[in-house]
Amino acid sequence: MEIIEKPGDMHAASAKLRAGGKALGFVPTMGCLHEGHLSLVRAAREDNGAVAVSIFVNPTQFGPNEDLGRYPRDMEGDLAKCRAEGVDLVFVPSAKNMYPAGAVSFVDLGGGITGRLCGASRPGHFRGVATVVAKLFNIVSPERAYFGAKDYQQTVVIRRMAHDLDFPVEVVVLPTVREPDGLAMSSRNSYLGPAERKAAAMVYAALGEAAALYLSGERRASAVAGRFRDAVSAQPLIEVEYASVADPDDLSPLETVTGGAILAVAARAGATRLIDNIALS
Ligand code: AMP
Repeated sequence: MEIIEKPGDMHAASAKLRAGGKALGFVPTMGCLHEGHLSLVRAAREDNGAVAVSIFVNPTQFGPNEDLGRYPRDMEGDLAKCRAEGVDLVFVPSAKNMYPAGAVSFVDLGGGITGRLCGASRPGHFRGVATVVAKLFNIVSPERAYFGAKDYQQTVVIRRMAHDLDFPVEVVVLPTVREPDGLAMSSRNSYLGPAERKAAAMVYAALGEAAALYLSGERRASAVAGRFRDAVSAQPLIEVEYASVADPDDLSPLETVTGGAILAVAARAGATRLIDNIALS
């Protein structure tokens, strides 16, 4: 396994693999790897001749009062996990290597997709995400890149960005990996105290209740989202930030579910922000 810090070296290593006839699968991460990340690595391994993982806590996707400084980091553990999964290349750039002094170019998708849901409370977040993923796609030059459905809005943003900017990369989205009680795995779950951790399982349980209401025939978005809110209100440690029934392709809010839809939610357990979603189909 090669561990690479400089974008130019990563570009060269990727070119060498591809010159040897290997398709490259790529998994971008912010590290502190868990089974959710590793499910993406395993899929990349299965579909491609070689696998690259990036570990980079991207400063441009954090707001000024967010958790950039205390975001969990475990480089040694992450490298051991990558090695155990047979990863070929691990890209671990510094912020200075990714954003050298003088860098002023960003990828901005406008206010539609990126202004909704998490974008409403995290201005600039998806600009940072789109920018770093575009840069990583250029640096790593993969055939396929793997993302988790847990960050549903992120997958919509990246598909749009890759399509609009003609990246020759197949974007693959895979299901959310959950803890036994249903909580979506996340590096940020390590922030949760024991009572919050227990309460956090309510987010997925409430998504299940809302989806069951939809499956019983309810098509009004307000009723489906309302069922989620009602269920979560039984758990005082969890505060809902948003619960939105949205178009799965552009995330515009729906009044009535006619075709497919996504119920996307964000909630807080103490200071920890949890996001999750469930398909209504
Ligand atoms: P992060 O390190 O949180 O930026 O996540 C890196 C990638 O792993 C993103 O594509 C996430 O959507 C994905 N991911 C994070 N948590 C999960 C999970 N529980 N299940 C599946 N994929 C996940």
